[in-house]
Amino acid sequence: MLLGAIADDMTGATDLALMLAKSGMKTVQVIGPEAVDAVQPDAEAVVVAMKSRTIAPDDAVAMSLQALAGLQAGGAVQILFKYCSTFDSTDRGNIGPVADALLDALAAPIAVACPAFPAAGRTIYQGHLFVGDRLLSESGMRNHPLTPMTDADLVRVLDRQSRYEVGLVDHATVAAGVQAVRDRLRGLAEAGKRLAIVDAVSNDDLELIGGALGDAALITGGSGIAMGLARNFREQGRLGPATPPAMPDVPGPAIILSGSCSEATNQQVGRYRAAGHPAFHLDPIALARDGQHLSDCIDWVLEHSARAPGGMPCLVHATDSPDQVDAAQRLLGRDQAGELVEQAMAGIATTLAARGFRRFVVAGGETSGAVVQALNVRALRIGPEIAPGVPWTETADQGVPRALALKSGNFGGPEFFSDAMAMLG
Ligand code: ADP
Repeated sequence: MLLGAIADDMTGATDLALMLAKSGMKTVQVIGPEAVDAVQPDAEAVVVAMKSRTIAPDDAVAMSLQALAGLQAGGAVQILFKYCSTFDSTDRGNIGPVADALLDALAAPIAVACPAFPAAGRTIYQGHLFVGDRLLSESGMRNHPLTPMTDADLVRVLDRQSRYEVGLVDHATVAAGVQAVRDRLRGLAEAGKRLAIVDAVSNDDLELIGGALGDAALITGGSGIAMGLARNFREQGRLGPATPPAMPDVPGPAIILSGSCSEATNQQVGRYRAAGHPAFHLDPIALARDGQHLSDCIDWVLEHSARAPGGMPCLVHATDSPDQVDAAQRLLGRDQAGELVEQAMAGIATTLAARGFRRFVVAGGETSGAVVQALNVRALRIGPEIAPGVPWTETADQGVPRALALKSGNFGGPEFFSDAMAMLG
């Protein structure tokens, strides 16, 4: 293992893992810090997916240090702490407290903090984070229910969270090149700073900053900061030539489970149905009545899949229009409706897995979490990209491997389900 990454949420972990896989590193994503030991020895980059963004700071620190210990035991020579490109956090943390704890544990003199992701419109200039052409504090992030971002000055934001002083590597320094960035980081460390926001407005900036971090024990940032890291390992002679991520080689029946009600998913479900592919509408209100609806659904999937083996897979979707979701939520309660659907999807996945289904496409972040947990998945080898941010993956820890495509709600084009299946061949 060369790079060990600690990601503060599941879809962010996948985003980073895909970035590393595309840069030619054999990458595995593990679910939770206790799963690091499920990694095969040939993995070059390991991303630990956690759910630590909004938990209590002490818990986030403990979980991150557990992940660090596992990654170090696996031989990681560089640690990356990955958080959201909009720096999602509160004044209590968890970016600052986790970064502090990792700095201490690694005895690192200083670490960069660079959430920039220019491809998605997240840029940093003079330490200020922009979302498109707006300051972070004027973007939709100011109204986020859990982590409202009302200050765009990241030096100030991180300073409030960290026990240590925070400096800035400004864009003029980045523009002056790799050596200038290294010199500035050394200067900041000598002046007592232990964290440094780094300006970046383009992928070229991120590549260059990455190039200056070959010797850094700890790096923190969004997935963009990982862009230049594989090249460092290659230049150091530690990593061979880039190998393209391999497709999962998993024969067997497939199922598509959609518990996302986002706009993109609604369109994808609509297209799949309109093309005449088999689809079952899972209704939370019927689920709440008794177990009949769920067993009808499973019987329907088994019957259709047996009748047309080799055809397009069945789609089971709770995906519905905002009006219908609203109606279910008013009747059942928001959390209860969500929980019913997630539990049903988890139950369908385990029943079908026991019946020999090996390929799973899942739409929805929370829904994916429920299915991954139900299938007891601990480690995923990252395969090729289906759509930006969504790879095919293969379980890396199970006797019988399974292929999984986990899509967060708004990802993927209108034909995502057919695109994913076409890649499997
Ligand atoms: P996304 O990635 O689009 O946010 P998630 O799976 O994370 O998707 O979240 C969607 C939530 O909505 C889940 O908790 C799911 O169980 C719930 N849900 C799905 N369908 C319905 C529905 N018809 N009515 C109410 N809640 C639903």
